[in-house]
Amino acid sequence: MPDTSDAHTAHRGDDSREARTSGALPAPASCSIDLDAEGRSIGTFSVPWSRDESGWGNVLTPIAVIANGEGPTVLLTGGNHGDEFEGPVALRRLLHEVEVERVSGRIIVVPGLNQAALRVGRRLSPVDGGNLNRSFPGNPVGTPTQRIADFVFRELVKRADLVLDIHSGGQSMTFEPMIATHVLADERRTAETAEYIKVFGTPLAVLIDEPDPNGLLDSAVEDLGKVFLTTEIQGGRAISARTVDITHRGVVNTLKQAGVLAGEPEFDAPPTFVRMVDDGTSVATIGGLFEPLADPGDEVTAGDPVARIHPIDDLAAPPSVLRSGVNGIVIMRHNPGLIESGDPAITVAVHEAAPW
Ligand SMILES: [Zn+2]
Repeated sequence: MPDTSDAHTAHRGDDSREARTSGALPAPASCSIDLDAEGRSIGTFSVPWSRDESGWGNVLTPIAVIANGEGPTVLLTGGNHGDEFEGPVALRRLLHEVEVERVSGRIIVVPGLNQAALRVGRRLSPVDGGNLNRSFPGNPVGTPTQRIADFVFRELVKRADLVLDIHSGGQSMTFEPMIATHVLADERRTAETAEYIKVFGTPLAVLIDEPDPNGLLDSAVEDLGKVFLTTEIQGGRAISARTVDITHRGVVNTLKQAGVLAGEPEFDAPPTFVRMVDDGTSVATIGGLFEPLADPGDEVTAGDPVARIHPIDDLAAPPSVLRSGVNGIVIMRHNPGLIESGDPAITVAVHEAAPW
């Protein structure tokens, strides 16, 4: 269980009071529910989207809060990218099954952070082309996507002790289901995060040394010293009973670990712990027909061919062969049968001693 004896403990409403007194909720953004109310609240938050078809139009994002007494605040988000479906589905399942009386603290649920993208099953926003997960901490007077990021950061992240942002591979990638965390400078936060990833229930746990943290929700949360968890649950713009079950169980286990739901986390075994490294990703240098030689979950050795790319029109041309740079386990494979120059084809992560 998390240490609840220090400033990291939830004191619900503190940030919101600060926000109101400083005028931090920008006038154009609004929320139809009181985020600090007890009980179950369901509504939307709204940012303006002025366009030809609707001069005073808005982008509405569904949000739910279940709050009951004292305890931590956990923010659960899915659909940060709109072509990743396990998060939205598992969070909808959670909303239907959790009774207010079972909660100690507060659960804030946004199943579709980028709701407009989720509606059309696309990674990026059809509103403005924005990549929400490159837009944090947002801009209160920016594009609709930047304003959504600003609202989420200012009003939701700042209220939370822990954020779980559920991703999958989307259209372009397929993963071995994993819970992921980052290399953190704060040893205590690293140890606390390790306990969460141990009990989440995915086959893999991946330590990421983020090469480009700019604009990620991850960075915005971690910069505030809060616990941040993220996932990659399969992908391919598809969904399965297995991956929804893994995600749902992970959400419930996270809430139990945080003390928001009673009981101990339930999982078969701690995950295999691996780390992403610089030479673990094989990137296509030509476009063509993609022939994977390994799938997520496969063990490979440095030098092993992991994919071939066949020039589409030249039957005499030999394929481009991509090889693993490291010994380890395949965590990601390019999903479509066609690949472009610059696309990551296969990512291999190396085994590492678990931090628990
Ligand atoms: Zn994503």
